[in-house]
Amino acid sequence: MTPKDQLDHRTAKEIERFLHSLKDHASRTRESIRSARTRRCSTEPVRAPDVMDWASDTLEDEMQVALVDRLSQQVTQIDAALERLTRREYGICHDCDEFIGLARLKALPFAQRCTRCQTRAEQFKGVRERRRVAAILAIEDED
Ligand SMILES: [Zn+2]
Repeated sequence: MTPKDQLDHRTAKEIERFLHSLKDHASRTRESIRSARTRRCSTEPVRAPDVMDWASDTLEDEMQVALVDRLSQQVTQIDAALERLTRREYGICHDCDEFIGLARLKALPFAQRCTRCQTRAEQFKGVRERRRVAAILAIEDED
């Protein structure tokens, strides 16, 4: 049995529907944050004079921008998953070509890697991130 046989037609259809509804949800949330931000920017052109207000406004802005970014990223990932579904490559791990597993796909339908490869990828990213931080700290220590 090849990995591709492990996803039957009915399950594939279910996943496709699920992915579409996820994408709708992500797009709608993103658009509502965007339009709320645009509305606020046009109605409140003057910053609150209070420093604390200004700080919390800025923080809220940053959080919203980060959220919009994440939602955009999610939409991209869902699109990629839908494409893999069309190419009949859905559910196959990007790194090891093994079947990702239904439990994981149900929890994270746009997963690109199996749990094992994802953990490894994150560990690798973590190591790189720590090295980067360590490098920055080392530079700052020289002062
Ligand atoms: Zn894998």
